[in-house]
Amino acid sequence: AKKQGRNCYFWFEPSMENELRFRNQIETGLRRGLTQGEFVPFYEQQVDLESGELVGFEMLARWQSPQLGLVSPEIFIPIAEEIGLITELSEQLMDQAFANAREWDDSLSLSINISPVQLRDPWFAQRLLKKLVAANLPPPRLEIEITESCLHENVGLVRSMITSLRNQGVQISLDDFGTGYSSLEQLRSLPFDRIKIDRSFISELRQPNGRSRIVDAIISLGRGLNLPLTAEGVEDEEILTALKSMGRLKAQGYFYGKPENAEEVRERLRAAGKL
Ligand code: C2E
Ligand code: CA
Ligand code: CA
Ligand code: CA
Repeated sequence: AKKQGRNCYFWFEPSMENELRFRNQIETGLRRGLTQGEFVPFYEQQVDLESGELVGFEMLARWQSPQLGLVSPEIFIPIAEEIGLITELSEQLMDQAFANAREWDDSLSLSINISPVQLRDPWFAQRLLKKLVAANLPPPRLEIEITESCLHENVGLVRSMITSLRNQGVQISLDDFGTGYSSLEQLRSLPFDRIKIDRSFISELRQPNGRSRIVDAIISLGRGLNLPLTAEGVEDEEILTALKSMGRLKAQGYFYGKPENAEEVRERLRAAGKL
């Protein structure tokens, strides 16, 4: 299936049979995997660009499938959304991630990605807050990341849920900023605490002059709206140097390391005295 937006798929005639077979395999595997605990959180470091200090982690889902190996969320998340398993999947991951984050130093935040499908569930915010209480994790340590999201139908519901989460102290980020067809509209209609600049724009900084008009513009927009920014996809020194001239930012990406599992993170934090 070719991806067209986050929830929308179209089918290629020639490979339709293979596509279907693959899809069925994922679907069956997903259902099984959920009962077998095959979904695990990995973590990507988030760093304060200026000081270079570790400030938190973004949780990224991984599927350790006995048949397929380590499967990318880009494959299984859209299917889980379509067949109604995303809530169950996400909640299993949250339980693990909240328990992990509880062990980390209080100064470290945890970001999680929330699917637009989950935002249409009127009980989402309430269940999330309950989980935080159960895990004894202070809401301000949690950041939820929202992407472009077929919001049109239900902005009212989404807004009131986000507002009640924010009232409890949960941070809300607009993820992949600039790639959705309605990024600006979202910024206007929902209350956000942070903008995450998509990797595709950050990679433009690899040009010889280390500048990108789009990145400049997004940063000005964020500053104008009083919203702090995170740069994602900081892959190398070149990008890092370019970003350092752009003022206060959070950064994440392969330059700081590939996503790690809970145990690897624990070791990293133990070494840094942040456990
Ligand atoms: P995202 O939220 O934009 O996450 C960043 C993705 O970029 C991650 O891919 C990460 O591994 C990758 N990445 C990080 N730094 C770099 C870099 O420097 N260079 C390059 N080339 N890539 C980098 P991943 O883990 O495959 O996740 C893909 C997407 O799947 C995520 O994109 C997010 O939208 C979604 N996703 C992941 N976990 C979850 C989840 O638990 N729930 C939901 N709803 N979506 C999730
Ligand atoms: Ca994200
Ligand atoms: Ca992102
Ligand atoms: Ca992205």
